[in-house]
Amino acid sequence: MGYKKLLVLSCCAPCSCAAIKHLVDSGVAVTVLFYNPNIYPQQEYEKRRDEQARVCDFLGASFVELPYEPEAWNKVVCGLESEPERGKRCGACFLMRLMKAQEYAKAHNFEALTSVLGVSRYKDLNQVNAAARLAWAYVGKPYWAKDWRKDGLEDLRRALIKEFNMYQQTYCGCKYSLAAAQKRKVEKK
Ligand code: SF4
Repeated sequence: MGYKKLLVLSCCAPCSCAAIKHLVDSGVAVTVLFYNPNIYPQQEYEKRRDEQARVCDFLGASFVELPYEPEAWNKVVCGLESEPERGKRCGACFLMRLMKAQEYAKAHNFEALTSVLGVSRYKDLNQVNAAARLAWAYVGKPYWAKDWRKDGLEDLRRALIKEFNMYQQTYCGCKYSLAAAQKRKVEKK
């Protein structure tokens, strides 16, 4: 790895906690970037943001929130609303957030960036990495495509979630993933 100052784009506390702890314990100065215009509704956004800030504080990472701009996100996924999870809408969603993280990393002189957008088992890590490579090609900051579920990090993640009694959401984030989760719940009954 060898990074001293790293930007970590994060979707939420439960997905990022193991990566943050691992990096901080390895002596890396970690800044967690919270740029999630995909999250719906706003109360849910604020809940995830506050939990992310709390966990950063405990683990010794800096926390940066960028403006919440759901209208901009809606434009990015316009025409892709009915795509399934792991489909084209998710690809566009990842790219938008990774582009913003690239720009932030460049403006603030980070050596590189990584993200935990592919940590959830419902997400496609290859799709996240493909979007990250594209954003890197556009903006130019190296992207570290680490699999944050491997090398014991999934066990660490579960332990930290328990230890901090972390808030765990039941859907990915956008209004479409919320509707899909609600539908699955009704079908289960
Ligand atoms: S399901 Fe998740 S990754 Fe896909 S578009 Fe919605 S918020 Fe983004």
